[in-house]
Amino acid sequence: MQTGAPTLTETAAAREAADLADALASPPPEAAPVATLQPGDMPVRKIIHVDMDAFYASVEQRDNPELRGKPVAVGGSAARGVVAAASYEARVFGVHSAMASVTAKRKCPDLIFVKPRFEVYRAVSQQIREIFADYTPLIEPLSLDEAYLDVTENLKGMEIATEIAAEIRARIFAATGLTASAGISYNKFLAKMASDQRKPNGQFVITPKNGPAFVEALPVKKFHGVGPATAERMKKHGIETGLDLKTKPLAYLQQHFGKSGAYFHGIARGIDERRVRPDRIRKSVGAEDTFSEDISDLALAEAELRPLAEKVWRYCEAHDIAGKTVTVKIKYADFTQATRARTLAANFARIEEVLDVADQLLATVHPFRRPVRLLGVTLSSLTTSGGEADASAEPQLDLGL
Ligand SMILES: [Mg+2]
Repeated sequence: MQTGAPTLTETAAAREAADLADALASPPPEAAPVATLQPGDMPVRKIIHVDMDAFYASVEQRDNPELRGKPVAVGGSAARGVVAAASYEARVFGVHSAMASVTAKRKCPDLIFVKPRFEVYRAVSQQIREIFADYTPLIEPLSLDEAYLDVTENLKGMEIATEIAAEIRARIFAATGLTASAGISYNKFLAKMASDQRKPNGQFVITPKNGPAFVEALPVKKFHGVGPATAERMKKHGIETGLDLKTKPLAYLQQHFGKSGAYFHGIARGIDERRVRPDRIRKSVGAEDTFSEDISDLALAEAELRPLAEKVWRYCEAHDIAGKTVTVKIKYADFTQATRARTLAANFARIEEVLDVADQLLATVHPFRRPVRLLGVTLSSLTTSGGEADASAEPQLDLGL
């Protein structure tokens, strides 16, 4: 779900990497001019990525003592159910989020399924954001349980970002009884990667000095912004680690990975210029899938719409987003495409409503003028519990499938 990849020229990237490393390795005396940072270069930022540990499952274990110490999956146990979150006890068995519930149950026969309570998760999320707001207005939530904080200039006047992270985690625990992990670094990508290093209930720092080496050693499939499909494509190009990625020139990455190429080129060097953007709101959330064989049958096509709609719906639930427009995209074997959309008077309340409308829209183009090679489902006219979406804000999000 990579979006908004920054553009960065190769020379600018190299220069900034050197500048960032110099800036930390040998800070110049106060009075001396800063020789390594050129005018217009970005100063070193202090970014914290805070990520709650097994969030939904931890909330359920907190609120129901009988679930503590046991393998718990939040999500539906029905035939088509999906695990939204797994407790650490369940993860030991290989159960993880986005896994089909039947698969999870097979891996862990004692797994206890609990229905999600999004209103509770939203309330806890609000508590956490109020704590963040004591430190900085630059808070960018990624979901109910994760956010980036830019604490370069913070409201407490604290110098050391690791101390801020430790204090925030302690306050979250005191207020909610839940643990959080944190990554601290000089950009969003590395902060996000760092928060995974000492989970649960830990934190990890990546400095400008050790950032490039950290990235080189990391498998690209762990990179934020590299989904399973992209990781597979990278593997075909001989790219399995950050170091492999670093050897590929910018033009090569742009040729093979499109507009994400520049982002990949940057992060391979520990460079990520994306700003922490508070209150970003997306205009639409969509998922699409290209089929291994083209489809002519309406029932088959409808069956393919379901997982797409489910993916969009799960994302919206986790991000507290609602929408009232559904768009179905149909791309034919000859690469021509059609889109059909419908807007309701009110937000969709249940996924079945989304599916009904999507099926009806699909039926309007059947019989298909050519076999169908790709289908997409998008939800738009979005609102969050915070209010109406701002049309000038974040553009479309595409969820890879
Ligand atoms: Mg989390």
